[in-house]
Amino acid sequence: MSEQQSRYRVYSTHLKQKFGEKVYKLPINLPGSCPNRDGTVGQGGCIFCDEEGAGFQCLPNTLSVQEQLNSNKEFFKRRFNARKFIAYFQAFTNTYLPLETFKQNIAAAVSDNDVVGISISTRPDCVNDRYLDFLLDIQQRHHQPLDVNIELGLQTVNYHTLQKVNRGHTLAEFIDAVQRIHSRKFEICTHLILNLPWDDDLDVIENAKLLSALGIKYVKLHSLYVVKNTVLGDMYQRGDFSIVTKEEYINRVITFLEYLDPGIVIQRLVGKGPQEDLLFSNWNTSWWSIKQEIERKLKELDTYQGKKFNYLNGKAVREKFEL
Ligand code: SF4
Repeated sequence: MSEQQSRYRVYSTHLKQKFGEKVYKLPINLPGSCPNRDGTVGQGGCIFCDEEGAGFQCLPNTLSVQEQLNSNKEFFKRRFNARKFIAYFQAFTNTYLPLETFKQNIAAAVSDNDVVGISISTRPDCVNDRYLDFLLDIQQRHHQPLDVNIELGLQTVNYHTLQKVNRGHTLAEFIDAVQRIHSRKFEICTHLILNLPWDDDLDVIENAKLLSALGIKYVKLHSLYVVKNTVLGDMYQRGDFSIVTKEEYINRVITFLEYLDPGIVIQRLVGKGPQEDLLFSNWNTSWWSIKQEIERKLKELDTYQGKKFNYLNGKAVREKFEL
C-alpha cells in the first residue's frame, strides 16, 4: 500500500486481506423499479435520478443473472486472472421485488462457485425482515462462506435535505434498516453525496459521526452530478442552486474522513457520472484525478481517516475523569 492510500482504509486492500487475493465486483442489472418512482412512496424519484436507476455501467437487464455473471466474469478472468467475485445487484432497488423473484435472483447468483459474496443495493424503506431472513437462511446453508452486504442509499443525514431531494424516506428509516440488517450480522455499505446543494460542513461531519456511531462497515462517497431532463437538471439550468467548487468538495471529503471511524472501509471517494446527457459532472475532470488530489491533500495536511474520531463512548466522562 502506498503512503497516500494508507491515510484511509482502501476497499481493494481490505478485500485482498479478507479473501487472501483480489476480489472483483460484478454488476447485475435486474428489471426493476423503485417505490420512489412508481408512486408507492413518491412520483418521479429523487430529483437527481435519471431513468437508468444508477445502473448505467451494467449489462442489459434482459440477460439472466447467470448470463450477466458469466459475461462479466470472463472479462475479469481474461484480463486479471481473477478467481473470486462479489455479485453486485446494482441498479434500482433490488429488494423491491416480489419475495419469490428476489429469492430466485439471489439463488442464481450464489449457485456460481466463484461467487464469494453478494452485495445488494436498495433503499432504507425497502429493507424487510422476510427478505433478510431469506438471505440469512441462504448464507447459513451455503456450502462455503458467503459474504452478505447490503448497500443503502442515504445520500445525507440531513432530513431537511432528504425532503428537498425527494428521497421519499427520512433518517429514521435508515436507522431502522441498519438495525434490522445488523441483527443478522450482515455488513452495510452506505452511499453519501457530500456536496448536495443544501448541505454544509456541519452535515458532512454529522454524516461521518452517524455512520461511525451505527457501525457501518463501508462507505461510498459520490460527488453530485446533474443529468438533463431531471428535476435537478431543470433547477440547475434555471440557476436555482450552485455547486461547490472542486476544492470545496475535496475539503469536505477530508473533513468527512477525519471524523470517520478508522475501521470503516472506503469503497469510493468520488463518483463517476453517466456518459450521456450530463449538465455537470466532476468539474469537467476525471474522478481519478480528483481522487489523486484528495490523496495529495491528505498528505500535505498530514491528516488521515479517524484523526477526529474521539466523540463516542461518553466523551465528556472520558475527558473529565481522564478515562
Ligand atoms: S432511490 Fe435510486 S432509483 Fe429510486 S428514485 Fe432515488 S436514485 Fe432513482
